[in-house]
Order: sequence, then C-alpha cells, then structure tokens
Amino acid sequence: MQLNNTHRIQTDQLDVPPRLLLGPGPSNAHPRVLQALSMRQVGHLDPKFIELMNENQELLRYAWQTDNQFTIPVSGTGSAAMEASLANTVEPGDVVLVGVNGYFGLRLVDMAGRYGGDVRQIEKPWGEVFSLDDLRAGLEQHRPAILALVHAETSTGARQPLEGVADLCREFNCLLLIDTVTSLGGVPLFLDEWGVDIAYSGSQKCLSCPPGIAPLTLGPRAVEKLNNRQTPVANWYLDMSLLSKYWGNERTYHHTAPINMNYALREALRLVAEEGLEARWARHQANAELFWEGLAEMGIECHVPHEYRLPSLTTVRVPDGVDAKAVAGRLLREYNIEIAGGFGPLAGQIWRVGLMGFNSRPENVMLLLAALKEVLP
Ligand code: PLP
Repeated sequence: MQLNNTHRIQTDQLDVPPRLLLGPGPSNAHPRVLQALSMRQVGHLDPKFIELMNENQELLRYAWQTDNQFTIPVSGTGSAAMEASLANTVEPGDVVLVGVNGYFGLRLVDMAGRYGGDVRQIEKPWGEVFSLDDLRAGLEQHRPAILALVHAETSTGARQPLEGVADLCREFNCLLLIDTVTSLGGVPLFLDEWGVDIAYSGSQKCLSCPPGIAPLTLGPRAVEKLNNRQTPVANWYLDMSLLSKYWGNERTYHHTAPINMNYALREALRLVAEEGLEARWARHQANAELFWEGLAEMGIECHVPHEYRLPSLTTVRVPDGVDAKAVAGRLLREYNIEIAGGFGPLAGQIWRVGLMGFNSRPENVMLLLAALKEVLP
C-alpha cells in the first residue's frame, strides 16, 4: 500500500490574535477559567469528578436562583441545551406556543416542530417584547402545553420581562420554557420566584467560559411531564431520563462527560458565587449604562428602549450612510475588537455589542468608544 500524504499539511503551532470579544458571544473566558480548563483529567466516574459534578449543579442552582433538583450542564453548546429542553418536554402533537420577536424564537419554532410539536407563534417586531396581555391572548387562542420565550434575545438586544408570566401559564395549565443564554450570570434571573418550569443557557456569554457546555434545569412540573411521556425522547444523546441516572445517585455511564469543560464551568460558576449575583448584575448594568451614555454623546442611538434593553447585549443603530460591515471590519483589523452586525430584518441596521461577564468592564467600554470614534466617518 502506498501511503497518501496529500493531507499531511505543514502547519505552525497554533497562535491566535488577541481579540477583545465584544460581540454577541463568545465573550473572552476569564483567565482563571482557562487555567481550570487546562488541568489534568480525572475519569468521568472518578470520586473527585462526581464531587465536582455536584458542585456544578449547586452553583448552577445559585446562578439561576432555583432549587430544581434536575439542574445539570449538558455536553454541547447552548443549542444542545435548547434542543434538550424541547426534546424532553414536547410530545408529538403537543401544542407549543413560541413568542417570536427575534432569531432565537424562530430557532425554538424549528426545533419544537422537529420533535413533533404542533407549533404556534405569536409575533412582535424584532426589538420589542411581549406584554402580559399579548401572552394572555396567545394562551387563550392556542391553549398550549408549553409556552416558550426568550428572556434575552441576542439578535435584538431586548429583555423579555417575566414577572407574572408563570401565573398566566398556571391559569392555562401550561409549562413555561425560557431561553437564558444571554442572561445567566449577567442579568437578574429568579427562576423559582418567576415560576419558570424549564430553562437553558450557554457557557460562553455572561459566564465567561468557552462554548461547549450548556446549563439545563427542569422544575418539578417539567420532570413530571418527562416521567409520564407516552413516547420515548426522540434524541438519545439528549434524553434526560437516561442522563439523570448519571447526574443522579446511580452514576451510570451514558456518555463520557467533557471533563475539562466541567472544570471550566466550575471555575466560571465559582467566580459568579464569589462576586455575588447582585454585585454581578449591578456591574453589567453599570458598564452598559456607561456605554449607552458614550453612544448618546456621539449622537448614536440604541435600537431597544431603555426599559427593555439588555445590559449584556446592546443593539446599536448604525448611523445613516455608514457601512456597518466596514466599521466592524476595521475594528477587528485595526483594534482587535470584535463586534457583530445585525441579521434578518435588522441586517445592516444595527451592530450588536456584548459586554458580558469578564468583558463587562469600564476599560473595555472606553476602548470601544474610542475606537468607534476613530473608525466612524
Ligand atoms: N439562544 C440564544 C438567545 C443565543 O444567543 C444562542 C447563541 O448565541 C443560542 C440560543 C444558541 O447557543 P449556541 O450558539 O451556544 O449553540
């Protein structure tokens, strides 16, 4: 046999530019998280790892303000936890009502349909949020088994208020499912107080951990629905009835947990607990306000009204006559700063600027404002 060397390319040892990631995610990981990530492995059933699994579960409960027993990090990115949230709770034929006011609402629609949900939508323009009256009207019309909303819409920068939503869901006997990918660890979240039944998140936003591990929590009503399913979960990898045997007392092998990503998440969650949620939320808000004031001084507007504006992700209106892509390109090339543009109905109209976790600091705000002043015509 002749060895084929066609693909044996010569490459240099990896080197990457020192980017400041101020886009919609990932954000820069905290140095302590990167240090934890690089530690030697133990086995996925090692007593030390099991101890760490328990710690991650407890710290996630703190970050989310929930006592939910079923709270775990899913192996995968935010979309894996998103998919798990639907795969486990939607049974074929279930009516799933999704609030669509941005791209991630549309992704929920797509996923819920793939699991056999009878998916209905209520819609708002990108950047607006649903009122309790909007939600009541939707629930009355569609009578869903699940209402799914995005708490922090990364495509629009809007924060969906959740107070009072669970009361409506109880009245209409449906579960409340919430996307907290761009809010966990940066924006106030009170899952239990707000009566949320199902929530998921990602690691690479306000938790300042690399992408690749994704929190998921199921409240008692969601667990009951899972336990009483008539059909098996149509996704083996994300079947929480199987995974609960690994994360619960039995510790039975399901898949090999990403050991180092769990180390990294632990450090990220320790940082949250060390700082304290109130201080962390206040820091995100203060740095966002600093950014918004700087923009206002430059005569630049934000897309979302102050009341519903996310501190973790600001959508900045592109001034008339400015090429949004060209500005983002120059920020990256000349200043190593990443920001992103808008897409869908907001393509070309906005930039998306993330001030998340470790990156939510005044020096980053001042640097970005100064760089923007340089590159804007
Ligand atoms: N939901 C929201 C609101 C998001 O912003 C994202 C990612 O940006 C996701 C879900 C999906 O997460 P991931 O890209 O980590 O799979």
